[in-house]
Amino acid sequence: MKHTLLVAAITVAPFAANAAKTISSGSYGHTQEQGKIAAISALERQANGNPLSNVRTSCRSTNYPLPWYCTATAQVATLSFGSDSYEMCGRSHSKSDTNARFEAAIGRKSCDSNKYSTYRSNFAVNESSFAGNACDYTSPKGRLFNSIWLLDNADKSGDNSILGWAYHETQKDVHNTHSICDEGVFARFKWEKKFYSWEWVKRSEMSFSRAGLYDQDVIGRAATLVHEARHMDKSHGNAGGACSGSSCDPNWSYNGSNTYQALWLWWFAVNANDATPAMRASAEQHANYTINRRFVTPPAYHADKDAEIINKSTASGLSRPIEPSNTVTFTAAGGVESTVRSQATSGFVNKYGKQPTKVECSHNPHNMGPPPWICVATGPK
Ligand SMILES: [Zn+2]
Repeated sequence: MKHTLLVAAITVAPFAANAAKTISSGSYGHTQEQGKIAAISALERQANGNPLSNVRTSCRSTNYPLPWYCTATAQVATLSFGSDSYEMCGRSHSKSDTNARFEAAIGRKSCDSNKYSTYRSNFAVNESSFAGNACDYTSPKGRLFNSIWLLDNADKSGDNSILGWAYHETQKDVHNTHSICDEGVFARFKWEKKFYSWEWVKRSEMSFSRAGLYDQDVIGRAATLVHEARHMDKSHGNAGGACSGSSCDPNWSYNGSNTYQALWLWWFAVNANDATPAMRASAEQHANYTINRRFVTPPAYHADKDAEIINKSTASGLSRPIEPSNTVTFTAAGGVESTVRSQATSGFVNKYGKQPTKVECSHNPHNMGPPPWICVATGPK
């Protein structure tokens, strides 16, 4: 099969920038450098995801409230998005598609010129393989870049969950990204060993289908990236067709693509950065589909977007999910769920001052940082 085949009748409508206007902002800093960074950050917030150009800063020493005051000015262009529908693999898609519902806000962030070049390079995107442009979420290219942006930005700092490491792990294992016309899959991943610089290294290719780009929302697409990249180390193997869905893994602790995918979606549902209730509900539903249908032996857990994770080390005023405290984590380092569970339930209160009524634990397969078990406690409000 030709991997780069796209229907030739696509109308590529490059985004048009309306007249650029100049915006400026000022911020204080301990050093000139900090002042500049703060001023540029303020500018970026003002630009609301639209690309900046001709950024200039200047600083002067001051004594209130910090030693330096810096201003930043830049041009910002308001992008107008293509209004055409796009055809991919013989089907047409427009902005009114139901699955476009979360795209619009992200569309402007992922096409910021810095982000765009970073993602293009980190995922080695074969650009001619995706029609459209990164600023138009109706286009195949825009939808790909939107999902990469979401993967990169889903984490609230400090959670130490899969939301924090998934982007890095995913892009490191993807060495080429292109499109395919195959209605039977969302995406495919393959790797082979190649001889580079006197050693054999694994090189991979990830391909996205029309269905992968258009038949799932941006959250599902980001989770698909996580799923595919995990294939660098784990295939579905013999389990492949043995569950009620497809692309099956034998069980949760196999730590395959479906475990990673479900875990990412689950954490997204509970605690993703800037996620609206509708986005969290979509992630929860998708996580539970994966949990219920993609394992030969499904795990006993289910994702619950309203769950709270109780952290023993800061037992009061908790509002963000985190793994059980370090003490608990290390106690359970052998992988004994019951140990974590018993420690997580006794002596805890949630942020509403109530004891949790339900604790569900999931195995976190990652061996860097996060503990092997994550327990999610749900309690009365
Ligand atoms: Zn798979």
